[in-house]
This record gives sequence, structure tokens and C-alpha cells, in this order.
Amino acid sequence: MEDCLFCKIVKGEIPSNKVYEDEDILAFYDINPATPIHILVIPKKHIATHNDLTDEDSELMAKMHRVINQIAEEKGFKEKGYRLIMNCGEDSGQEVKHLHFHILAGKKMGPKIIG
Ligand code: AMP
Ligand code: ZN
Repeated sequence: MEDCLFCKIVKGEIPSNKVYEDEDILAFYDINPATPIHILVIPKKHIATHNDLTDEDSELMAKMHRVINQIAEEKGFKEKGYRLIMNCGEDSGQEVKHLHFHILAGKKMGPKIIG
């Protein structure tokens, strides 16, 4: 996807502060952090939104969750906890149309997640 910001980050055309990378997945720090630790986890393959997932992506999504657990352990917030968010589509406010999890950590968050 030529105009996709996160595809450009995957290709190295736009720099990112990387946290994790393998052949399928990239994780990097959010440029505008909402919490002291704010990491984005994306598939390298362009998938626009959660609505676009297919059976073919099952193992990829399972791997994303394993990677998130690994990052939580390595970055030291596994025990204290974190919030995992994925926006999907217009009502959610999804800005970048390349599927991504937000990992929010590093502070005690309130019970409300709806803004
Ligand atoms: P969403 O609203 O769920 O699509 O989230 C997109 C996220 O991407 C926002 O939290 C932005 O701060 C973040 N973002 C935008 N551009 C960059 C970039 N170049 N590097 C890192 N994060 C970015
Ligand atoms: Zn993309």
C-alpha cells in the first residue's frame, strides 16, 4: 500500500523507534504517547482494519498476542499490567488504516476507556 504510513515505516521509508521486529511483525513507540509507555504493534502485511481480517490471518494474530506478551515481559510492565486497544473504523477514530494494537502502560489508568 503506497500511501500507507505504517507500510512506509515497515519499509524503513519513515523512521520509527523500534521495540521488536521479526519477519511478520513490527512494534515501535507511538510518536504521540498517551501514557508513559505507548507502543504500537503492527503486522508487516497491510491489513486495513480489524474488519478485513480473514482465516488466513489467524496465526498472524495469535503471533501478535505472543509478541505483545514478550514485549510486556521485556519492558517490565507485565506484572503491573497494561491496556490493549485496537481502533476499527470511523466511529473508533482510527486514523491510520493499517491494523495496529496500542499497548498502553506505565501508569494507573482509570476504569473508563470510552471517550
Ligand atoms: P489510531 O488512531 O488508532 O489509528 O492510532 C494511530 C496512532 O499512530 C496514533 O496514536 C499516532 O500518535 C500514531 N502515529 C502517527 N504517526 C506515527 C509515526 N510516524 N510514528 C509513530 N506513531 C505514529
Ligand atoms: Zn499499510
